[in-house]
Order: sequence, then C-alpha cells, then structure tokens
Amino acid sequence: MRLENKVALITGGGSGIGRETSTLFAAEGAKVVVVDVNDDGGQETVATIQSAGGEAVYVHADISQAADCENMVRTAEDSFGGLHVMFNNAGIMHGDDGDAEQTSEKIWELTMAINLKGVFLGCKYGIPAIRKSGGGSIINTASFVALMGAATPQLAYTASKGGVLAMSRELAVIHARENIRVNALCPGPLKTELLMSFLDTEEKKQRRLVHIPMGRFGLAAEMAKAALFLASDDSSYMTGAEFTVDGGITAAYVTPE
Ligand code: NAD
Repeated sequence: MRLENKVALITGGGSGIGRETSTLFAAEGAKVVVVDVNDDGGQETVATIQSAGGEAVYVHADISQAADCENMVRTAEDSFGGLHVMFNNAGIMHGDDGDAEQTSEKIWELTMAINLKGVFLGCKYGIPAIRKSGGGSIINTASFVALMGAATPQLAYTASKGGVLAMSRELAVIHARENIRVNALCPGPLKTELLMSFLDTEEKKQRRLVHIPMGRFGLAAEMAKAALFLASDDSSYMTGAEFTVDGGITAAYVTPE
C-alpha cells in the first residue's frame, strides 16, 4: 500500500501505460482520477479498479485544452479532497509524422498541442492543487527519443518529448523546496497500441528490435512499476531525473547479436 491516502491523477488512463498505472496505483491504495478522450477506455479502467475494490473516477478531458485540464484537477479535489500524484502521460504518435520535409505544419502543431502543451497545462493546474495538499510527485512521460536520435524519424514526436524532458527538469528545480518532485519517465519502445499500430509489419518491428539489447519491446506494466516508484516515497530523494526504462537501448553501441 505504497500510495495509501494519496490521490493520483493519470492522463491517458484509458489505454496502455496509463491503464496499467491506474490499476497498479489503485491496488497500492491510491484514489485514482482516470483521464482520457477515449470514454470507453477510461470507463473500462475505472470499472476494473472498482471491481477490485478500489476507488476511481473517470473524467473526459482533452489535455490540449486549458479548460479541460482545469476541470480534471478540480474533479480530483472535489471527488477525493486533494491531489498528490500527477502522471502527465497521455500522448500521440501520428502516422504522418516523419522527417522535416515530410511532416506538415498541421501534424507538428497537433503533436505539440497534445504531447508538450498538454503536459504544460497538466502542470499549470496540477501544481497549485498538489501544493495545497502538502506536496507530492509529478511524473511526465517523455521517451527514449528525448535522449537519442533515430533514422526512422518522427520529428514532431521526438521534439515534443525533448520538450517534456527539459520542462520537467526545470519544474523540478523551481518546486524542489515546496516538497513537489518532478521526474520524467523515459520509456523505451513498448508493446502498446500506440507503437504497434505504427509498426504494422514484421520488417518495421525488426528494424527496431535489433537495437534493443534485451531483444524485446517493453510492456506497459513495466512502465507502471517505474511510475509507482516515482510516485511513492520510495523515490523521496529523486527530482529532475530522466528515469530511463528502456531494455538497455540508450546504453547500447553494439547489441549482443
Ligand atoms: P496508448 O495509445 O496506449 O495510450 C495513450 C492514451 O492517451 C489513449 O488512451 C488516448 O486516448 C489518450 N489520449 C490521446 N490524446 C489525448 C488527449 N488529447 N487528451 C487526453 N487523452 C489523450 O499509448 P501508450 O503507449 O500507453 O503511451 C503513453 C505515453 O507513453 C505517451 O505519452 C507516449 O508518447 C509515451 N511513450 C510510449 C512509448 C511506446 O513505445 N508505446 C514509448 C515511449 C513513450
């Protein structure tokens, strides 16, 4: 029960990392606010938590919209009396995102609005609520591509995640003496809907797998465990970190085979 008496808000809670984290946080005692634009997915996550005896509410919010972000934080306070853990996790990877020549302004702006501005808005409204609750932990989902370049480009996505990492670091420094920790989670490539719908052929999957020392994609459940560590007091002396959970990809020069 590492999150007993804590209120946690998780964006993108209707799928992948967000869903696994919502159910794990609830099992560890947190009251969970599940946020998504996919109402079916979000409500399914809440139902799973409730059927296991946990406490959760669903809020529809598009994180690229300020009013929606304000409302999701207000829901946490109204439903559960405060906010201690904020997992700004929702993000997109658009199929038309490519290199500088291929990527349209529209795809660039859409990706930035959700992946980067969405995290900013989450922090903008989440920080005052966390402060009022006596402090807590913010986890922002970046990516291993915030740390290294790929010849299989998704320029808008990569730039947005670099922004998440830089923003998280600075917020960590600003709020360190207020008992508000801010860390960025940098997952490696995962077996979730987001990436697998993008890597829709065996050839595309192999093009990536060859660079991962562990030789497999990660699992959303493995990211949830990392997020739990960052959310709980187990990581009480950690802030401003780029927490890499990537099967060794960022450490590799040559892979085993
Ligand atoms: P996913 O697609 O399974 O889940 C993302 C969820 O976010 C979905 O439920 C979606 O409906 C929701 N969402 C999308 N736009 C939204 C918006 N505007 N407002 C609110 N919710 C919105 O993806 P995932 O793999 O679980 O990814 C979660 C995070 O992890 C993302 O930020 C992603 O960029 C990051 N990430 C994923 C991988 C990977 O390989 N899957 C690797 C590194 C980082």
